Amino acid sequence: MNPSPRHNFYRCMTLIVDNGNESAWELLDYYLSNQGTTLKDFIEYNQHEIYHLCYNYGCCCRCQYLTVNKPKSRILYQSQLDILLDTKGTYIPCNVHVRAKPTCSHRVNDNYANPNIVTKQLDLTLCRCLLFNFTNILPQGSVERQAFEDLISMLNKCFSVAKGEISNNDYQTYKTQIEKCILALAQIFGKTHAMQEKIKVAEKRSLDESIFKQLQQTSLQVKTLQNQVPTTMGGPNISPGMIPQIETPTQDQIFSAMDEMMGASGLLEQFESSGETIEDTTAEIQNLKKSAKRILPAVKMNTTLKIQKIDENTERKLKAMESRKQSVEHNSAKKIKQAIESNHKVFEESAAKIQKFNENTEKTMHAIDSSHEAVESTANNIEKLEERLSKCGYSNIPDEIKRMDKKSVKRYCLLLKGKMDKRQHFRLVVVGPKGSGKTSLVRRILQQPLDKPSEVKSTNGIDIHILKSKIRTNSGKWIFMEGVTNRQVANMRLKRCLVEKTTIEETVEKRMC
Ligand SMILES: [Zn+2]
Ligand SMILES: [Zn+2]
Ligand SMILES: [Zn+2]
Repeated sequence: MNPSPRHNFYRCMTLIVDNGNESAWELLDYYLSNQGTTLKDFIEYNQHEIYHLCYNYGCCCRCQYLTVNKPKSRILYQSQLDILLDTKGTYIPCNVHVRAKPTCSHRVNDNYANPNIVTKQLDLTLCRCLLFNFTNILPQGSVERQAFEDLISMLNKCFSVAKGEISNNDYQTYKTQIEKCILALAQIFGKTHAMQEKIKVAEKRSLDESIFKQLQQTSLQVKTLQNQVPTTMGGPNISPGMIPQIETPTQDQIFSAMDEMMGASGLLEQFESSGETIEDTTAEIQNLKKSAKRILPAVKMNTTLKIQKIDENTERKLKAMESRKQSVEHNSAKKIKQAIESNHKVFEESAAKIQKFNENTEKTMHAIDSSHEAVESTANNIEKLEERLSKCGYSNIPDEIKRMDKKSVKRYCLLLKGKMDKRQHFRLVVVGPKGSGKTSLVRRILQQPLDKPSEVKSTNGIDIHILKSKIRTNSGKWIFMEGVTNRQVANMRLKRCLVEKTTIEETVEKRMC
């Protein structure tokens, strides 16, 4: 039975997508087990570099600890980064600004690998990215590396064939090439024979629905990737060691291939709507280009005008500076001469002033000397005075008087000199049997009224009366001073003493002067 061209296409696709991808997984697993590591650890080890395969413009916040190579053009899409890293968390609120983004695009957990990652999740492109960039298992220029590249270019070739059909002639060539690539890879991890068997099985397998579905899935993935227009502006230059993204088939190619292949109207609509988005974007870009063309001459004109203006201003300023320089040169000589002359004058004046100052200083010294003498004699006088004061009982003077001026102290001393005050106090003790009339007697002496005999209460124990009173010695008349305090009595006695002395004091003062 001669297979149809459509069937040839399916066979090639399944060979690449099934067996080709399997050999890539085995290769990666082989490398990881040789290194004694896991896919998760491997990705986490290379996390920073993997991140920059997607965000290749500018540094991120982790670059301050370690900078890594950044490719000149974007190698991974965000959706591919999502497969490798744990990018589900929120963005890190960091202040590293990269073009058109408020932050670098780090998520809180993206220094970890996607927790569910397994080798079988990685398509050929991702396997290639990891193997080429982060392992040495496919060295540059090696046959095996070329085999991997060829496998991917065969995938592209199959995608790009018209109407998803491969002629019987082409099929044999394609099949041989694809198998050769797969076996070259299998030879690295030592499973050439097993892989040959698998390819044989795949060849005999009938083309069922599941294979179509798988193909459909793969084609969709490729298409989705292609619709993510990379934001990088990088040219075709690629830094050494960085492997560029594979050239995926154009959407038209996939479109026609899928149209022929599936005839699924739902899928068709999906593709068409994606196509519209692209058309919209293209129109937008064209609009932008047009407006840029319009604006450019105006901007150029504006810039030229500004430059002219700046030139004119600069020239004017230069001229002004030149003329100022000349006038400064002319004036400065004259000014210096004047300054020297005035300096001379000032110098002469200063010399005269210094002489005068010296004279003054001498006079001042004399004055200081004589004032020293005056101070000494004053001190002597004070000493003598203090001696005299102590003679008149200075130490007995109350502090209040000492705080007064010298004259008052002297006056106080003179007034009290040789003065004595008589204390005219007496005590009367009345003793007698109970009810004999002691209280009545005391009341009579104090000239207080007597109560009726029935109202008189007997004194219990002892009764003391303190009475301030005076008795005139010449007439024998009593004067009672009720409500007068001890302090007032003392003041009165002092005053009497001083007043009686006043006449003597005045004559003494006159003699002293
Ligand atoms: Zn950052
Ligand atoms: Zn950050
Ligand atoms: Zn970085």
